[in-house]
Amino acid sequence: MRHLCLLLALVAAAALAQNYQPLLNHERMTELFMQMARIDSGSENEAAMTEFVARQLRELGAETVVIDEASKQLGGTGGNVFARFRGMIDAPPLLLNAHIDTVQPTAGIQLIRDANEIRTDGRTILGADDKAGVAIILEVLRTLKERNLPHPPLEVVFTIREEKGLQGAKVFDTRQLRARTGVVVDGGADPAVLYIQSPTHWRFEVVFHGKAAHSGAEPEKGRNAIVMAARAIAQMQWGRIDAETTANVGTIEGGQAMNIVPERAKLVGEFRSFDPQRARALAERWKAVCEQVAQEMEGSAEVSLSQTFEAVRLSPDAPIVRAAVAGLKTIGLEAKLERTGGGTDANAFAPKGIQCLVFPTGADRIHTTQERLLLRNFYLCGEGLLQTILHWGRQSQPQPAVSVPKATVQ
Ligand SMILES: [Zn+2]
Repeated sequence: MRHLCLLLALVAAAALAQNYQPLLNHERMTELFMQMARIDSGSENEAAMTEFVARQLRELGAETVVIDEASKQLGGTGGNVFARFRGMIDAPPLLLNAHIDTVQPTAGIQLIRDANEIRTDGRTILGADDKAGVAIILEVLRTLKERNLPHPPLEVVFTIREEKGLQGAKVFDTRQLRARTGVVVDGGADPAVLYIQSPTHWRFEVVFHGKAAHSGAEPEKGRNAIVMAARAIAQMQWGRIDAETTANVGTIEGGQAMNIVPERAKLVGEFRSFDPQRARALAERWKAVCEQVAQEMEGSAEVSLSQTFEAVRLSPDAPIVRAAVAGLKTIGLEAKLERTGGGTDANAFAPKGIQCLVFPTGADRIHTTQERLLLRNFYLCGEGLLQTILHWGRQSQPQPAVSVPKATVQ
């Protein structure tokens, strides 16, 4: 048993580069996370979190802290919080983002902390998605300040209503931002995994209109909306379409009774693709299919398509990706560049011309009451982000000219 413990300790230590001294205050970061996890901020009720993070940012010496009026447009309480920090070196500004809302249920949260993780009593979610990201950013800022580390100008945006379809980020006025590149700290549990691509997402809602009639006495007079929906669905491919693309019919509803030809059927679903053109083409083809089927069956189809979020496509050579790979290397991790099928605020910033990398947080089993924060991973993510910021500043610095000794003729 003693040998096993020793072995586990060695494995844990091996992940950090041998000569890497952690810079963050891990205990303070954990306490901050727990403090925020106890603040109820289920979507649409983020006022308390908004105030909390704004206060933290002011304490950290931000030159500007602004709470926007997103709730006026979106309903609910709270706002997006924007802060700007002067750089200590002349480098392009970097955006740091995390979201302050969580999914439900959150009421009466009870935290359990042991040596390895933080979880709840299983009756609520934990909210590490994305309060772990918020805690990482705040601790990184505090450490940069305390240790006087040479960092680039930083812009911080903590968003509301992310879990409701990136709503906060979408209404946030990005004209305030100078940064064209950012890091969204809202990824997965593995501290080495960086998401550099995520798909374009289209949502559809189709209502087929037919005509009701008694199905036994005079079915000829009816136009069956459910059959229209079925025929339309049968003309398309669903599930994984190709390596880049997926399609799903998520819900179907319609009809009134066994013996009535249904006059209405409604479908809701989605298309996702890493290739934005492909997603658009599929959505448009689906619209045409629905309209044609409805017309053939003497009914009609109302098709609404909306692009929920836009693809993020960072090249592995992008400066921010290189900075993050180097940052992880500094702490002894080999970065894994991956793509995710899900959306984050990075997808809301992309169409506004700000490309963001999605950085991990150490949170696991998110969106369930089994959600947990793996502490070791959480600390590695924090150290990794800190080093990423330092590399971002360093790689933008003019490199000292290499002096080649002049050949002398003897
Ligand atoms: Zn999230």
